[in-house]
Amino acid sequence: MILSLSEVMAVPDKVVTMDIPLELSEIEFQGMRYEFLQKPPLSARITNQNRKRVLVEGSADYTLSIPCSRCLKSVAVSIPVNIHVSLDLSQEEKSAEGAEQESYLDGFHLDTDLLLLGEILPALPEKVLCREDCKGLCPVCGRNLNEGTCGCRQEPSDPRMAQIQDIFQKFNLKDE
Ligand SMILES: [Zn+2]
Ligand SMILES: [Zn+2]
Repeated sequence: MILSLSEVMAVPDKVVTMDIPLELSEIEFQGMRYEFLQKPPLSARITNQNRKRVLVEGSADYTLSIPCSRCLKSVAVSIPVNIHVSLDLSQEEKSAEGAEQESYLDGFHLDTDLLLLGEILPALPEKVLCREDCKGLCPVCGRNLNEGTCGCRQEPSDPRMAQIQDIFQKFNLKDE
């Protein structure tokens, strides 16, 4: 949502507490779409720090549906977010910080979804497993090996193992 900061900035030392909903229903990241399973509103506290600075603090626990890295089954992943950002609302000061906050701050209007997204994306886990010992998918037929085995011959991934297997096959041929 677009939150107007004019009210809090009109009164020195003013503190406002409010619930900020997340309007996004899914996020796109590195070509993947992750759906929110739970997105409780952020319990926020907004403080006029004077000198045209505003402090935005708050926390919320989001739950995203992320596919298991091995078998692609949907896994509910908890993403706790704790925000603590001091925003510079002065137009004239152009610092590196200013460039970064430009995307979600337009004058006194704060795009809370963009601000929250900036906290959620870095909190995404690099790898998600449905369970510690997930067996993944069969590389040949695509069957989820957690649900049972398939008839495919498993190709050894280690080239040394492949050589040993070749030797065994030669022996088998000689035996015949
Ligand atoms: Zn899995
Ligand atoms: Zn298979």
